[in-house]
Amino acid sequence: MQTQVRLFERIENEGYEQVVFCHDRKVGLKAIVSIHDSTLGPGTGGCRLYPYTDETAAVEDVLRLSKGMTYKAAISGLKLGGAKAVIIADPKTQKTPELLHRFGEFVESLGGRYITAKDVGITGADLMQVRERTRHILGIEGLPGSSGDPSPLTAWGVYNGMKAAARHVWGDASLKGKRIAVQGLGYVSYSLVKYLVEEGAQVVGADVDAAARSQREFGIEIVKPEEILAQACDILSPNALGSIINATTIPAIKAKIVAGAANNQLATDADGFELMRRGIVYAPDYAINAGGLINIYHEREGYDAARAYDHVAGIYRTIEEVLARADKENMPPHRIADRIAEERGCRSATTSC
Ligand code: NAD
Repeated sequence: MQTQVRLFERIENEGYEQVVFCHDRKVGLKAIVSIHDSTLGPGTGGCRLYPYTDETAAVEDVLRLSKGMTYKAAISGLKLGGAKAVIIADPKTQKTPELLHRFGEFVESLGGRYITAKDVGITGADLMQVRERTRHILGIEGLPGSSGDPSPLTAWGVYNGMKAAARHVWGDASLKGKRIAVQGLGYVSYSLVKYLVEEGAQVVGADVDAAARSQREFGIEIVKPEEILAQACDILSPNALGSIINATTIPAIKAKIVAGAANNQLATDADGFELMRRGIVYAPDYAINAGGLINIYHEREGYDAARAYDHVAGIYRTIEEVLARADKENMPPHRIADRIAEERGCRSATTSC
């Protein structure tokens, strides 16, 4: 009872519109859909399937992620709201067609207020199952008119945002000769490293288990995962985990710029202030990593890859605007990004996301 009261307080304070608990004992579905804000358009965001051991953690995740989607859509100028879904399940043992169908039925029952897509734990094939029960779905790879794998577009956006940050710091957008430390060498980094190497950057990377491909294909230097954040470098690009910019890691960072695709890079609001105090320029995560969302947005108007790439390249201007205003208003970029998103019409929340 006490938890429920706090949950309503939280939802009210941070402006969530609707949080739906979807349950079906027969198929073992436990899902939560959070629609944070649909002022600018239907709440859109992927579905994450994860074996949360703690239900509170699942609620926390869906609330935080859906709010992030509101700000990501708004700062990118998209007519979309922010939403997200989580399914509490073990992907190895509990992900059945019946469970995915039932989830699709719940999405359909929301009448288009929530549009689902892929996230951690959900494959393209899973999304096809969900699609058998709902029309409110985007980003299915392999279907005619689909936008396909978002990772290359996310990387394209990060690359462009990184160039804007470089211009802000060094007066030149070129990354040639810059030493760039890349944490995580998964899907996004694969395309990102390609762009960076092509431009003549000196890339050093680390991954807990997938370093070999980038090393083999691009010949980049590889260091141990625990050494990447403290690399002597110009730019640090976090592309693995959230909360990696924190009170413990910040003192070790030698880069002048932090620009990467990982969501929720700052562990706390204070960490954004600390980066600013140290003269490290932070390209806000949800602004620089919006390429995937911009990409699926184009499915709504008839997908055209060239148009999507052009649109994503506009992340350069977004980061340029954020950093210029951050300097002018003497505020950290993550706060300025929130402000710009709110000025573009998403309802402001009382706390920063
Ligand atoms: P991914 O899972 O393919 O890659 C992440 C990589 O990080 C993996 O290879 C993993 O082994 C590695 N990793 C995990 N812990 C690590 C550690 N401690 N040190 C070094 N490496 C570590 O994911 P992705 O699709 O490339 O996405 C990368 C990040 O960008 C994620 O945080 C994701 O949430 C975010 N993101 C991705 C997209 C997209 O379009 N894929 C869009 C927006 C945001």
